[in-house]
Amino acid sequence: MSISLRNVRKDYDQQTKVLENVSAEVQTGEFFVIVGPSGCGKSTLLRMVAGLTPITDGEVRINDQVVNELPPKARKLTMVFQNYALYPFLSVWDNVAFGLKARKLSQSDIQHRVDNALKMVSLSDFSKRKPRELSGGQRQRVALARAVASDADICLMDEPLSNLDAQLRIKMRQEIYNLQRKLGLTLIYVTHDQVEAMTMADHIMVLNDQHVQQIGTPSEIYQHPANEFVAQFFGTPQINILPAKRSTQNNHILTFATNNMQVALNEEIPIDSLRIGVRPDELTVARAESVDSNAVVKNTEFLGNETIIYATLNSGDDVRAVLSGQVNFRGYEPIKIGIGSHLLFFDNDGKQIALTKEEAVHA
Ligand code: ADP
Repeated sequence: MSISLRNVRKDYDQQTKVLENVSAEVQTGEFFVIVGPSGCGKSTLLRMVAGLTPITDGEVRINDQVVNELPPKARKLTMVFQNYALYPFLSVWDNVAFGLKARKLSQSDIQHRVDNALKMVSLSDFSKRKPRELSGGQRQRVALARAVASDADICLMDEPLSNLDAQLRIKMRQEIYNLQRKLGLTLIYVTHDQVEAMTMADHIMVLNDQHVQQIGTPSEIYQHPANEFVAQFFGTPQINILPAKRSTQNNHILTFATNNMQVALNEEIPIDSLRIGVRPDELTVARAESVDSNAVVKNTEFLGNETIIYATLNSGDDVRAVLSGQVNFRGYEPIKIGIGSHLLFFDNDGKQIALTKEEAVHA
């Protein structure tokens, strides 16, 4: 059950243009995550796949059949929402069976599917309970059991974990992932949480500003972000972006932040000024005498296995560095920050340009 989006557009009205030119191919059996900041149109896109919201322009295909005009029921998919609405007066078992009864399946078929779905989400022992007698995570699992019991090949999930506390979210993340793999579901999963996207997806679609910013595997998106937005959206703490200038003496050399931070590139630098992206764990931090320091420490956060150092470069640019273990620096202590080997380069529109660093001239 593959899904294909071709130049999909959505305008709610003249003033509310939400999505433009959205194209993607979702393969059978894959975990496809749509991620982006709140309000970027993720739910709208999912609802258009489901058939709950009409499409302004473009095509949605399921198994190569255009479904633009097909009502939700005929699309053979299930949805799990953030506010999983369970019927409060029905038992867990009846909640899962509800949609199946409406489909007029035989009693024995319903029995088999519900029992199987409850087993799958480890709720067999809770089948007689009412929703109020369950924890948040268990209620969410009832919603998942419904999706499992429906036997649809495509499942759409809209922020299904956002109401749960942090620990439960991690556990449910694994359960959804295992379930998707076990059932071979084609799953489109909407979230604003970059960690959920990174940990679960086969492919991620990053949406922002009405457009698809990038589609790729988690490692493609992290290591080769198409633009500054994608680079900044993934990774905590956030990637450092520093303005840089091509040296007037040598067009292979970029100077940035302070005059003593330079990188030599393998190729000629095509524009006068650009921006360098460097992940916090790619920076080195050393104690320094004031004369050869290039930054001062603002503050540090010790997280148990690593320390985040917030510092201000002499140029005034703020940077974040992550060092492993516990590292103690005083506030305003002079330090010397160096850059690692994996750098990203962006033009002034924020688009990534492929350049490779040769070596650090001064790091
Ligand atoms: P997300 O899921 O990424 O948070 P949504 O798809 O819910 O974003 O919303 C995208 C934009 O469309 C928002 O600006 C929202 O206000 C607007 N929007 C959503 N639903 C409607 C609607 N039914 N009518 C008009 N505007 C809407």
